[in-house]
Amino acid sequence: MEEGLLVRKIDWGTVIDHIPAWRADRVLRLIDAEQLAKDPEVSVIVLKNVPSRKYGRKDVIKLYHHHMSRTDAALVKLIYPTVTVNYIRDWKVEKYQPELPDVIEGRVRCPEVTCISNSKRDPVVRRFRVLKEDGYIQCYYCDAIVEFSSIPDLAVA
Ligand SMILES: [Zn+2]
Repeated sequence: MEEGLLVRKIDWGTVIDHIPAWRADRVLRLIDAEQLAKDPEVSVIVLKNVPSRKYGRKDVIKLYHHHMSRTDAALVKLIYPTVTVNYIRDWKVEKYQPELPDVIEGRVRCPEVTCISNSKRDPVVRRFRVLKEDGYIQCYYCDAIVEFSSIPDLAVA
């Protein structure tokens, strides 16, 4: 199958490419794609398990008429380092190399139920340090550790 046939051009939007095969749903959860779907201009096109020259098989997400935020791009890249992000403007492809964040705020829930960031009475901003070399993030308040690969399970909308 030709890659070109599967990936039709769009006038503007975002293409999240080289997602590991069958992981597109986790990426969609991470970027809160359901929220995007409320905008009638936006379409989300998901390709699963398509041929990839580099990785054998891959998933691709196209956000038609939406530019993913750079924070979201960085978050996705953190969990799936193979991912590449292309912003499309006026049919032109602009490759974007997200920088890994040092801190993640508000997007990930602490797995420790007793953590102050999970408290209903005195809520604080959820905050994690990113330990890039070690492959995990650490809660700023209780030091709980979350592996990069488990972040989508704890994503908060
Ligand atoms: Zn915590």
